[in-house]
Amino acid sequence: MDFSFTDEQKHLRRSVREFAESEIAPHVMEWDEAAHFPSELIPKLAEMGLMGVIFPEGYGGAGLGYIEYVIAIEELARVDGSVGLTVAAHNSLCTNHVYKFGNEEQKRKYVVPLAQGKKLGCWSLTEPEAGSDAGGTRTVAVRRSGGWALNGAKTFTTNGHYADVCVAMAVTDKEKSSHGISAFVIERGAPGFRPGKKENKLGMRASDTSEVVFNECRVPEGNLLGAEGEGFINSLQVLDGGRISIAALALGMAQGAFEAAASYARNRKQFGRAIAEFQAIQFKLADMETQIEAARLLVYQAAWLADRKDIRFTRESSMAKLYASEVAVSVANEAVQIHGGYGFIKDYPAEKYYRDVKLCTIGEGTSEIQRLVIARQLLGKK
Ligand SMILES: Cc1cc2nc3c(=O)[nH]c(=O)nc-3n(C[C@H](O)[C@H](O)[C@H](O)COP(=O)(O)OP(=O)(O)OC[C@H]3O[C@@H](n4cnc5c(N)ncnc54)[C@H](O)[C@@H]3O)c2cc1C
Repeated sequence: MDFSFTDEQKHLRRSVREFAESEIAPHVMEWDEAAHFPSELIPKLAEMGLMGVIFPEGYGGAGLGYIEYVIAIEELARVDGSVGLTVAAHNSLCTNHVYKFGNEEQKRKYVVPLAQGKKLGCWSLTEPEAGSDAGGTRTVAVRRSGGWALNGAKTFTTNGHYADVCVAMAVTDKEKSSHGISAFVIERGAPGFRPGKKENKLGMRASDTSEVVFNECRVPEGNLLGAEGEGFINSLQVLDGGRISIAALALGMAQGAFEAAASYARNRKQFGRAIAEFQAIQFKLADMETQIEAARLLVYQAAWLADRKDIRFTRESSMAKLYASEVAVSVANEAVQIHGGYGFIKDYPAEKYYRDVKLCTIGEGTSEIQRLVIARQLLGKK
């Protein structure tokens, strides 16, 4: 077994880290307080290839794999989870759904500008009444003169307000339950399509989370993505990859919180000594780093499997997402504790990691749902 990164992967990590520290870190708190979505960053992310990490160069991407994708998300999230989430939803949900299930014409039309970062993507599965039970989708699509009309509303769509391209799931045959939901690609400006309420959030405040509304939204036949009725089933495969990116997001934030806590512990003096000299603090730091390393192994294992391409990695991506997100919540909690009262104050980064990281136990399937997915796999139920 070889756990080492290649020189190219090390170079990518250094480049993304330098980028995040110079272009993102100085603005993190300002963006968070204002809930500002940093559109101005997208061309810079695109220039680095980060808007199309996992797509072939022939489709406008960077031609890299999931290992490199995890490195990139991890390094962005170490500085700001919101930017990591924006990039993750764009790459592994929207663009990857079109790349995996679109026909050649759709891939040329949508994947190329998305992977080049000329367009921003979002992916809408969740509805107010269909969250964990996404098969309970109520948005409908009916055939109308050579195309489709969509009606309904999606909630909690990352990038929903700013996206140029939206992949959305809608019921096309309610008799067929989960095999009666189809995927559609909708462009900004399509008649009857508009972003709705922008959510005001606990954390990840520089990431956009919005409602997406379809009111007699007309799309041509050519915008049906994949086979009719298979959109929900295909979404589950899209989520296998997406969950690796949420695991990477959690890992990056855990690493950032840990580094902030370790540095604080070395500098903060109480009782005439640095608090890092107290065994109680040392044990916290030792546990935090051990948990992060264990999570890292699961996340990179899932990424390595995803790069094999010929095998399903549902169980491993769910395990990585479950473990990394729970570890990240615990590490961020301990980071606040190590900062004492200053952990509660916005002058220090610990409180923001604590708020941001909670999303990772919820988005792309809650921890409870990951456990269901893992249990189904291990008990052999499909
Ligand atoms: C910031 C943010 C960004 C998001 N981005 C996107 C996006 O881009 N696209 C998208 O489609 N969605 C997105 N989501 C939605 C997210 O995936 C859902 O919030 C999530 O799947 C949970 O659904 P829910 O919120 O309806 O909770 P519910 O499903 O109502 O769950 C409530 C609680 O019940 C538990 N529960 C539910 N069912 C079961 C069960 N069978 N067994 C045990 N426990 C259960 C859950 O684990 C949870 O604790 C986003 C959400 C957030 C907060």
